[in-house]
Amino acid sequence: MPHDHGQDLAYGFSTVFGRGLLDEFRNFVNPPFLVVTMEDLWPLFGHHFEGADCLTYFCGSIEQDDLNREADSLGEVRAIVGLGGGQALDVAKYFSWRLNLPLFQAPTALSVNAVYGQRSGVRLDGRVVYRGWAVPQAIYVDYDVLAGCPPALNWSGIGDILCFHTGVLDWRYAEREGKIEEKWRLDENLARQSLAKVRTVVENVDNIRAMNDRGIETLVDGLQWGTSYHGAGWCPRHIEGTDHFLFYTLEKLTGKKFLHGQPVCLGVIVGSMLHEDGTEEMLDTISSIGLDIRPEAMGLTWDQLEEGLKTMRSYVKDVGLWHSIAHDSVLTQGFIADLKSRLARAYVRRDR
Ligand SMILES: [Zn+2]
Repeated sequence: MPHDHGQDLAYGFSTVFGRGLLDEFRNFVNPPFLVVTMEDLWPLFGHHFEGADCLTYFCGSIEQDDLNREADSLGEVRAIVGLGGGQALDVAKYFSWRLNLPLFQAPTALSVNAVYGQRSGVRLDGRVVYRGWAVPQAIYVDYDVLAGCPPALNWSGIGDILCFHTGVLDWRYAEREGKIEEKWRLDENLARQSLAKVRTVVENVDNIRAMNDRGIETLVDGLQWGTSYHGAGWCPRHIEGTDHFLFYTLEKLTGKKFLHGQPVCLGVIVGSMLHEDGTEEMLDTISSIGLDIRPEAMGLTWDQLEEGLKTMRSYVKDVGLWHSIAHDSVLTQGFIADLKSRLARAYVRRDR
């Protein structure tokens, strides 16, 4: 029987909103501390740490063996600060875990939900794996830092929230079709909480486009729900489905490094079309915010996208991803033509 916990899941990490937050790190983080960041970000933010007793670490390889070696050679460090978008925050989590040191996170972009996951996305022989465990002391969301970030990087963050729409559709679909994994039977209460986060994005299109305080709070609220992956017993079904499956397929096929929200939001549209549920609203939300998910905007040709769409079905089966509508759908030329004209219409409206 499908079950329903009938109560809200505890989720989220301690998050502080404010201004001038980076300047405070020197006053409360145990020195000497390590700032884990990207080389191109340090010139923009380094001045906030001037005079602080800290070392900097610029992210390079994220192969697990390399990170273990790096962690062992850091010398005396008493705390870790993550400063960046996705990767720096993941590496900061990893070092915090390996060295058992307190972690403070300062996102400079909201492009993915890396900051709201306990585990780090690292590589094992080139494959993405999620390892470790880190709960930050606090996450510092500085309105001015995020408002100063290139808008597309923040807009990318809607991918890790709108994907709840297709995640839930796939979950209900798998339950209905009798193809649900026994350990992940449908939990409508959890599904509804995910969909509420999607509604908040839909209702805050203008704020997110403008990246004003309310827009930043909306993104953070939705991304925080990423921690419910752990809270639900590592069940990913309410937060991910065909949306990310298309992204994995395209990444495997092309080896490209994407801005996360672009292929994921494209996957949201493809999944919505397959389920025939909410396509126009999702597309209108994404295009109105300003995130361009046309293949050419992410360096893909239509031929590459077509190949991705046509191989997604075999890919999700080969990799053994949880059952979704992508497992059962053959994407025809007609489907692809429909996708093409929907995207063209949505962005012609925006381009004008
Ligand atoms: Zn994601």
